[in-house]
Formats: sequence, structure tokens, C-alpha cells
Amino acid sequence: MSSYKSRWMDENLEVFRRSVSQFVETEMLPFDEKWREQQHLDKEFWRKAGAQGFLCTDLPEQYGCPGADFRYEAVFYEEQWRRGLTGMGQGVHSISAHYIFNHGTEEQKQRWLPKMASGELIGAIAMTEPGTGSDLQGMITRAVKDGEHYVINGSKIFITNGYLCELLVLVVKTDADAGSKGLSLLVLETENLEGYRVGRKLKKMGQKAQDTCELFFEDVRVHASQLLGGVEGRGFVQLMSDLPYERSTVGVQAIATMEGALEETVKYVKQRHAFGKPLMEQQNTRFKLAEVHALTRAARIFIDRCIEDVVTGTLDNATASMCKWWLSELEQKVVDECLQLHGGYGYMDEYLICRMYADARVARIYAGTSEIMLEVIARDL
Ligand SMILES: Cc1cc2nc3c(=O)[nH]c(=O)nc-3n(C[C@H](O)[C@H](O)[C@H](O)COP(=O)(O)OP(=O)(O)OC[C@H]3O[C@@H](n4cnc5c(N)ncnc54)[C@H](O)[C@@H]3O)c2cc1C
Repeated sequence: MSSYKSRWMDENLEVFRRSVSQFVETEMLPFDEKWREQQHLDKEFWRKAGAQGFLCTDLPEQYGCPGADFRYEAVFYEEQWRRGLTGMGQGVHSISAHYIFNHGTEEQKQRWLPKMASGELIGAIAMTEPGTGSDLQGMITRAVKDGEHYVINGSKIFITNGYLCELLVLVVKTDADAGSKGLSLLVLETENLEGYRVGRKLKKMGQKAQDTCELFFEDVRVHASQLLGGVEGRGFVQLMSDLPYERSTVGVQAIATMEGALEETVKYVKQRHAFGKPLMEQQNTRFKLAEVHALTRAARIFIDRCIEDVVTGTLDNATASMCKWWLSELEQKVVDECLQLHGGYGYMDEYLICRMYADARVARIYAGTSEIMLEVIARDL
């Protein structure tokens, strides 16, 4: 395949990619089967990733983070997702850290970010509830002020990193009558937190090594100093401001999956024979793969621009939504075409393409569904 190099890559990033790649090969790949069975990674792995400087890479050194930029985050996603390793909730960890960095008080940043960078605190973000997902304002989990504390009651569902989570950015209603101005973000240290309960690890179609859980809150008391930014009613604005970042991470995961699927399929069709010749020599195979190759390259060029814009802080909401919508939709199409070329083997769980197919489906749903993305894009017209 012709080589294409992202313009944002440089020598330092090449070195970083090599060390990430080696880390992923030795510290992730051999454990993936075990993690898929237990439905979560080992905490120890997170600590190792932190020790290597692979967590919160794009946040500043003054908070104990590596002080690089989003390109480094992207490289870590790419090296996992192109190998079909989808268990680590790096996205929600980084996004939770970004909420704290962008909206937290100085004391909150000092308190939590260094531990998120070291992997001592695994982050998660809890918005979705059994009764509502896309419509955030329909949520009912409440936090009521009681002296120096908030008392929380309610539940959340589908929470990535839910089982391992040690630091939870929780969306609550602090004023039931104030619409979007009634939402606030509380940051919970979950260890030994009375009234906090982690429910089932949910059995999913794909992303089996990822711990996706229900969370329950029964009279959970947290100190008012854990209100993000220290001001009530800012939750909605805080969440919205970081959406372009979150959406671009899904785009990076999608492109890495597409590139991994194509590479894997080319290898497969070159060695698999039918009717006396390699599958690669059938015209249908060549045309299908040519199409996948062209679409993947176009998507790569688009995501590369988005990555550059995240680095400069110029990625707008509509473009980020186009990125999330288009790449996650395309990912499904590309992985499906690649699976088809594997024949029956493509349907077998031990084949990477099978796992990629199941893993990819949710990209059109989480971090804002495709339909919600189209709503946002339409508003830009
Ligand atoms: C594996 C996984 C991991 C997740 N991780 C997290 C997490 O870490 N934290 C978290 O808070 N949540 C998480 N989620 C939840 C996810 O973000 C929601 O599932 C998603 O936002 C959709 O919400 P919903 O499931 O309630 O669907 P609904 O909102 O009920 O939507 C159902 C359907 O209706 C459509 N729809 C809804 N509103 C509109 C509209 N206005 N116009 C057109 N169509 C509409 C939707 O697009 C969808 O097709 C995760 C989900 C999954 C599956």
C-alpha cells in the first residue's frame, strides 16, 4: 500500500509511536483474551500506562501530566484500535481529566490531575440514565445541598470504566426547575464512598474487555468542594464546551479501526485461495478493497485536519460532529466489506475482523448518536 504520512507526525512522535506500539504489544495484546472474559482490564495496567507517560498526554506538566498535545493522545488510541484492542476507556479517562482541567478550580486540578496522569485514579464520566441518554435535560439524578455537602440520589447506566472507576465526573440536577441551568458536575472519589454502588458489568455485543456498568447513588454525601468549578448550574455549559474533543476521539478510534481492518484483509485475501488463485486476484476483491482503500484514505485526511484543529483549539462543534458522524458510519461500512472478504472465518470470534465488526457498531451510538450528530450539523446550515 502506498505510504501516507500524516502531516502532524514528526520525529518525536515517531519515537513515541514506537514505544507505545511496543507497550501495546507486550502489556495489552497478551492479556486481551483474559480481559475480554473478565469484562475489564486490570488496574495494574492503568498504573503501567501512567508510569510510561501515556495518560493525559495533552495536559500540562504543572499538573503532573506529560505536557504534550492531542497528537500524542491520538497515537495511543491508534496503536490500540488498529489492533482491535478496545477495552481501555482511554477516551473517557482523558475527557474526565479535560473537564477538570478546563473547568476545575486550581485546588481541584492540583488534587486530581496528577493522579489521573499516573493512573492512580481511573476516570469516568456519568451522564446517561436508564430513562434518558440523548436528552440530557431529562435526567433525574439529584444532588441536594445539605450544609457543607451535597446528598446524591439516583442511578446511571452504560458507564464506560464503571467497574474500575476511582474518580467519577457525575452529572447531577441541582435545580429541577432550571432546565439546562439546573445541571452541575460533581467529582466523586469512589473508594469506600458510602451509598455508592457499582452494578452489573453489562454484557455487550462488542468491546468485551471494556467495563460498562450501572452505577447507583443512595444518599451519597460529597463535600461541596467537589462541585466542578465551585459554581452550581454550570454543568451543561461545561459538558458542551468539551464535545468537539470527545467527538474527535471517536473519529480517531474509527480511522484506526478502518486502517487495521484493511491491512488485515489485504493479508488475508493474498493467502486465501479460491478457484485456483488467491482471492486478491478476483476482480470483485480488488474493486471492493480499492473502494475501502480510497474511502479510508479520504477519512484519514479529514481526521488529520481535525487532529490538527484539536491541537490548536480551533475544531468547531459542527466539524467535530461531522467527524464523529461520518467516520463512525464509514467504519461500519468498511469493516463490513472487509469481513465479507473473509467468508465464514469473518464470522468467527477468534478473527480480528469479527471483533472489529462487533466493536465498531457502538460508535454510531455513544458520545452522541448519529442522529444527534446530524441535528448539530443541520444547525450549522
Ligand atoms: C458501550 C457504551 C458505552 C457508553 N459509555 C457511556 C459513558 O461512559 N458515559 C455516559 O454517560 N454514557 C455512556 N453511554 C451512553 C450513550 O452515550 C447513550 O446510549 C447515547 O447517548 C444514546 O442514549 P440512549 O441510549 O438513551 O438512546 P435514546 O436517547 O433513547 O435514543 C434512541 C434513538 O432515538 C434517537 N433520537 C433521540 N433523540 C432524537 C432526536 N432529537 N432526533 C432524532 N433522533 C433522536 C437516537 O438517535 C437513537 O437512535 C454508553 C453507551 C454504550 C452503549
